Amino acid sequence: MSGSLYIVATPIGNLSDISERAIEVLKQSDLIAAEDTRHSKILLEQFNIKTKLKSYHEHNERKFTSQLIQQIIDGKSIALISDAGTPLINDPGYKLVTAAHHNQIKVIPIPGPSAVITALSVSGLPTSKFIFEGYLPVKEQARKKCLQQLISEPRTLVFYEAPHRILESIEDMQDVFGSNRRVTVARELTKQYEQIVIDSLSVIKNKLINEEIKIKGEFVIVVEGAKNISVSDIEVLRINQILSEKLSPKDAAGLTSRITSKKKNEVYQMVLKARKK
Ligand code: SAM
Repeated sequence: MSGSLYIVATPIGNLSDISERAIEVLKQSDLIAAEDTRHSKILLEQFNIKTKLKSYHEHNERKFTSQLIQQIIDGKSIALISDAGTPLINDPGYKLVTAAHHNQIKVIPIPGPSAVITALSVSGLPTSKFIFEGYLPVKEQARKKCLQQLISEPRTLVFYEAPHRILESIEDMQDVFGSNRRVTVARELTKQYEQIVIDSLSVIKNKLINEEIKIKGEFVIVVEGAKNISVSDIEVLRINQILSEKLSPKDAAGLTSRITSKKKNEVYQMVLKARKK
């Protein structure tokens, strides 16, 4: 096993979801780099894994990446784990994996749970094409801007969200996407209080307000993509006109094109034609 970097997925709640191969690799490695060593000790004790732990998180990865790389070059095998799920998926590790490739080090994936895929698999929404947006911005203005950019996205959308922001995010999604989009809220996946609720954005909002969905624990939000919207030429021109009041002609046409799914050039041609009339 020497001289390799293992990216090891660990459970997102239920410890029985760890794979045999993950246990074996964690036992055989020379060192386990873990996001939070105290948190990971519980998992390692459960499976009698005695490998030395080293803290590796977003605040020290700059400092420790080169040290870890040097240890691998010297022949050691290192396993990277995060607090839950697959490392690098909204978790530290990107710098380490990039540096490993840069140094021709073998990077070996040990796949396993990840909340994004787990939620998607039970969402009841189309899964053959989806986009993963991670966490939305914290500030309302930035969050809404981000959602507006996704307004005409036809693929299923997946977001991670913290409990103290779940209601605000659902409210903003309702404002931007409308009340009727289907949404799946997946809470505490694989844990004792697992809850998977599928409904329209407006009903989900009410269920959060009246605590039918508990605002506690960990959440994944899966949102239906935009349906094929057919927009008339008049509507395209109207949208472009409103946007032109605040934006340059180029930016307005670009955004109109994204909102209406018309090609940017088509929007330009329409505007030119309308002006000649
Ligand atoms: N690396 C992890 C993965 O592969 O899913 C994700 C880490 S990210 C820092 C943590 C977020 O993942 C949580 O805030 C939540 O949105 C989501 N998450 C993790 N575990 C979850 C669970 N058991 N149920 C629902 N969401 C979960």
